[in-house]
Amino acid sequence: MQDFQALGLHSRLVDAVAALGYDQPTPIQAEAIPHVLAGRDLMGLAQTGTGKTAAFGLPLITHLLAAPGRPAPRTVKALILAPTRELVNQIATNLRALVRDTPIRVNHVVGGMSINGQIRTLSHGSDILVATPGRLLDLVKRQAVRLDSARYLVLDEADQMLDLGFIHALRDIARLLGSPRQTLLFSATMPAQMVEISRTYLTDPVRVQVAAPGKAADKVDQTVHFVETGDKISLLSKLLGAETDSLSLVFTRTKHGADKLAKKLESAGYAVGAIHGNKSQGQRDRMLKAFRDGTIRVLVATDVAARGLDIPGVTHVYNFDLPEVAENYVHRIGRTARAGADGKAVALCAAAELDLLGAVEKLMGITVPTVGGTRPEPSRRGASSKSKGKGRGQSGRPVQAQQPKRADERPSGRTSRRRPRRAA
Ligand code: AMP
Repeated sequence: MQDFQALGLHSRLVDAVAALGYDQPTPIQAEAIPHVLAGRDLMGLAQTGTGKTAAFGLPLITHLLAAPGRPAPRTVKALILAPTRELVNQIATNLRALVRDTPIRVNHVVGGMSINGQIRTLSHGSDILVATPGRLLDLVKRQAVRLDSARYLVLDEADQMLDLGFIHALRDIARLLGSPRQTLLFSATMPAQMVEISRTYLTDPVRVQVAAPGKAADKVDQTVHFVETGDKISLLSKLLGAETDSLSLVFTRTKHGADKLAKKLESAGYAVGAIHGNKSQGQRDRMLKAFRDGTIRVLVATDVAARGLDIPGVTHVYNFDLPEVAENYVHRIGRTARAGADGKAVALCAAAELDLLGAVEKLMGITVPTVGGTRPEPSRRGASSKSKGKGRGQSGRPVQAQQPKRADERPSGRTSRRRPRRAA
């Protein structure tokens, strides 16, 4: 059996992973680490939860340890970009655990925090800088950091960065980086635009894939309840009540929907929190901490806020609303069954969401088993015809399509523009 020692990592890192309790490399680590150590560019197709942070972090740190010397003020040796503040925090935390017994310094910068503190942090130079693209560019403009000495670039959750409209920021950042450089791109899905991106940023990359894109972790037990929109809250409340000792992540499509649902569940007696893009960084951090330590057992979230979060122990992921973009279903259910645990993914599907469920099933090549209600027959006009707005729920009563009405009910994200539905 392969162990970390055999991968050729720096001995201090072999000790560090042992201290963290990692017995053996995960598949993405076993596959990616030798290539990254050999200096190759790499495109990794892997979901979060597969151990990909260490897959790029360990060889990157090994490279940095091989070329010692403090970074000059305001410079960066290795840059890691990730789409959300939470993901940046999480990557930085994971990497700090790995570099604990080394002189390597990991800094991180995200939007929504005081920029002055970040300017001070960067003034000392960074061996590794983890950043969201927008805040990084702000800091570059303020001359708090320059990127021309960066020789390593990691794009993590690259598909989500594209979804969030970071493409221009990525182009601007790529122009500022030094060369030659080694670039690693990780993505859970590989939409057409990603192939184009990889051609722009990567040189002769090795492709490493640990699960087919769009395939959920095998260990997630997926089910669907067919239910009218108006009955979803009471059904969810019942399902949550039936699962003692569960840690549940509930996804809604909109920020407004997340708040509304959290309030209703709270009045039903659940210890519940909500995270989405309208919450301040402090609120988001507090909620995540409370969820991680089990003070709250139910966290209602939008896709953007929850993307890539590593919260060990999530037992259930509820799709209160089916996602507009089928790939997001894969990311959502990837929040459970992490690090080898079992997990359940439960979708609540209204008639008007049948086409969204259909897109998910097509992407994953499965039919999600029905455990509640009856799967409506697609009507000739198409139960999927959202613009017509009508379908039939399990009781036969007409169900209104969930058309966002107010600005704050639109799908969350940096832009209020509705994201294009991508082909599966
Ligand atoms: P990631 O996909 O990087 O978010 O990692 C998911 C989780 O797996 C994190 O909690 C890591 O600490 C954990 N992890 C990473 N590598 C290993 C490993 N080789 N053995 C056990 N756990 C790991």
